Amino acid sequence: MSPSELGPVTCLGCGCGCDDLRVRVADGRITDLSPPCPVARAWFGDGRVPGAVRVNGRDASVQDALREAATVLAGAVGRALVVLAPDISVQAQGTALALADRLRAAVDSATSDAAAAGLLAAQRRGRAAATLGELRNRADAVLFWAVDPGPRYPRYQSRYAPDPVGTHVPEGRSGRTVISVSVGADRGPGSADVELVLAPDQEIPALSVMRAVALGNPLGELPAPLDAAAAIAGRLMKARYVAVVHEAEPGQQQARDRYRAEGLLGLANALNGPTRAALSSLRAGGNRNGAEAALTWQTGYPMAVSFEGGTPAYAPDRRALTGAEAMSAILVVGAAATVASALESAAAKVPVIVVGPRASEASLPARVAIDTGVAGIHEGGTAYRMDDVPLPLSPPLAEAGARSAAETIAALLEEVLARPERGTG
Ligand code: SF4
Repeated sequence: MSPSELGPVTCLGCGCGCDDLRVRVADGRITDLSPPCPVARAWFGDGRVPGAVRVNGRDASVQDALREAATVLAGAVGRALVVLAPDISVQAQGTALALADRLRAAVDSATSDAAAAGLLAAQRRGRAAATLGELRNRADAVLFWAVDPGPRYPRYQSRYAPDPVGTHVPEGRSGRTVISVSVGADRGPGSADVELVLAPDQEIPALSVMRAVALGNPLGELPAPLDAAAAIAGRLMKARYVAVVHEAEPGQQQARDRYRAEGLLGLANALNGPTRAALSSLRAGGNRNGAEAALTWQTGYPMAVSFEGGTPAYAPDRRALTGAEAMSAILVVGAAATVASALESAAAKVPVIVVGPRASEASLPARVAIDTGVAGIHEGGTAYRMDDVPLPLSPPLAEAGARSAAETIAALLEEVLARPERGTG
């Protein structure tokens, strides 16, 4: 078969959700993509995924696997955990939530602890947010707080801020002031117009000072580096529109101050007195934001929901993932590799069902594993960008024959619904 170039294709390699990729396909494999992005290259790979179906480690038919999964789950009503893992569409996530409702299950997702802290802070304080398009077109000051988007979000700076020309920033990069704040090992980007380096224990005092300046509170003389933080706040107040950019999905290596997200929200909100400002939270890919969107529209809460009592209940202070050992069954929908370590010890005691991309390769000892395609590569639907903008997916390997995650989860729901409903008593 001769190679073909497909596009535009939406990428879920990170939360930027770039929807302008051209993908080259030959013999059912992805051979190239442009514009080049190392994270996209790794996420798409060559597009091949396994297509196994396993019950107790042995090959099985899909129907037998669904029957076994439904038997396990139906026996765990009121004591089941449903985990929304990445790389499935929001339609698949919504069906999984209908299943969780029927099972009176607890629901958790791959939302990191740091992102959870940001969601909770936003519920307490409110959040001045904006789409990435608004930042691109309006932000003439960009404050990178303890993050250089380059490694994990390679095209953020070129697509959104500070590099591109915007409708209200016709000079592009030269029309924007870029401020880079580093906190301990969390470095801001190089080549900024203004740089500030803080020790970890100076971070929250600096944010407090900046917020106080934005609110117009008199502070008197300040020691270094808080005086520099105050000067930066003064500069931001003179901008027409400020984008405050931070990492909402950091790796596990470093302990971030748990009040960072709260401090940044407070600063962005306060800047909306003297000027306009928005907080841009960098989120990982695979439609993680979609899980929060689906949960919110179906239950009113973005995470940590339990259907145990028959209606949605919110328990944001305890992650269901960490309490998985107390459950009678665990259903993971999506790419299980992202949640495998959190479920490791529970999986040794509790039967696990996995439906999603590379289910058969997950390190979890699964009772049932059903491989599916990846949303955005093999399967269409909708995914949410880091700024909660929904994007239609245009999978380049839709014809490659991978099993549909959305259809498989729907078939599992049907199989469970066909059984008599049991109470929790
Ligand atoms: S920046 Fe992110 S969404 Fe954009 S192409 Fe790269 S990995 Fe994909």
